[in-house]
Amino acid sequence: MPQSAARLDAGSISARQASRHPWATVALGMLVGAALAGVAWVSIPARSGPENPSTSQASPVPPGAASTGRAGPSAQLAAAATAALKPLESVVNVVVRRNDTLDSIFKRLQLSIEDLATVRSLPGIRQSLDFLKPGDVVQLVSLNGELTALERRVSDTATLSVRREVDGEFAANIIENTLEVRTEPLRGLITSSLFKTVNDLGASDQVALQLAEVFRYDIDFAQELQPGDSFTIVLEKVWRDGAFLRDGEIVAAEFVNNGRTYRAVRYQLPDGRREYYTPDGRSLRKAFLLAPVQFSRISSGFGLRWHPVLNRMRAHRGIDYAAPVGTPIRAAGDGRVTFRGVQGGYGNVVMLAHSGGIETVYGHMSRFAPGLFVGKRLKQGELVGYVGMTGLATGPHLHYEYRVGGVHRNPASIKTLPAEPITPALRGDFDTKARTLLAGLDAASHAAEPTSAR
Ligand SMILES: [Zn+2]
Repeated sequence: MPQSAARLDAGSISARQASRHPWATVALGMLVGAALAGVAWVSIPARSGPENPSTSQASPVPPGAASTGRAGPSAQLAAAATAALKPLESVVNVVVRRNDTLDSIFKRLQLSIEDLATVRSLPGIRQSLDFLKPGDVVQLVSLNGELTALERRVSDTATLSVRREVDGEFAANIIENTLEVRTEPLRGLITSSLFKTVNDLGASDQVALQLAEVFRYDIDFAQELQPGDSFTIVLEKVWRDGAFLRDGEIVAAEFVNNGRTYRAVRYQLPDGRREYYTPDGRSLRKAFLLAPVQFSRISSGFGLRWHPVLNRMRAHRGIDYAAPVGTPIRAAGDGRVTFRGVQGGYGNVVMLAHSGGIETVYGHMSRFAPGLFVGKRLKQGELVGYVGMTGLATGPHLHYEYRVGGVHRNPASIKTLPAEPITPALRGDFDTKARTLLAGLDAASHAAEPTSAR
């Protein structure tokens, strides 16, 4: 493309702009004599620091024009010279920052406030026009400083479009955008961390979290993951109007941990809930979580150990999970709060009673979950409190106990009852859908298998 770009700093902005935004940095792109809709980006961070540009400008310049308007003094002279001959259109994509309003954006870009008032007076668009969140993008098109069009996304699937008609009046309408969900296979080999592997495949942290969530009852992602573990997933990718928008949900997954293979398929129940099941229809969800703290590490196991605070050997009747102060602690299973308060060496402690005479204990907390009271019923995974080091503790950790009929058991060795499997009524539907998903998983895992190199 016959396109050149130049970066200028605040010193070379026109005097008018520099006095208004003495701290601004301008990255200026110029399209010289090109009749194409080339994109040159100009960023004019206003009230922000230079580290975070808040506006960007694309300036397709008509043929023959020497340069764009918002430039250094010499470029501006050139622009002034050509403006007399050719109309000068500017397209600016403004990324909304905290405390931005349309008024402040219009002022910053030296656009007519009267135009803004006229647009605001259009029936029925006030809400979708003025409700701005940081990160939103508003596109403003102007011709010689007069607003000709304004566009902004209102939701994932709708765009507000305001245009100046030939008669000079503004007209607004909402454009519907189509979302398309495509599935894509991803296959990763873990060398250091799950997050790194997933990121290297071009997927977001959210996908790593989802994967850990799917298998959280079978694999302790804090403790048991090791180099050489691998996974294959079939992931939904959401596209809008032909452009990639974001990662969606995992629809099928396989995880090989320490030589053992775990597989899961997603299935939507008639009530709309989406759950993960094994290929033969057993729920991956279990009555108790493997660990009440995600991504922690076990600092002390169950059994005899030297007690660093009491300075003597003593039986450790639970498991200690080291994690930073403030890490959320989750209820290991559905249960009822039987104790919430301070108790000796436990410090701040919560006890939960579960069905089958099972009790779980969470000690050394820094804080309790807000609104937690004795008698309250908690769902599995609900917040109990936050990791701390109250009571007899040398460092921040969760002391976790699991008791059955009053007897302490090693939480790590408990075989827990799985949640409900696929019911006979849904069996046929499940099997059909699972077969398709598993075929996709097989294809992905075989296609990308590291070749026969032993
Ligand atoms: Zn402990």
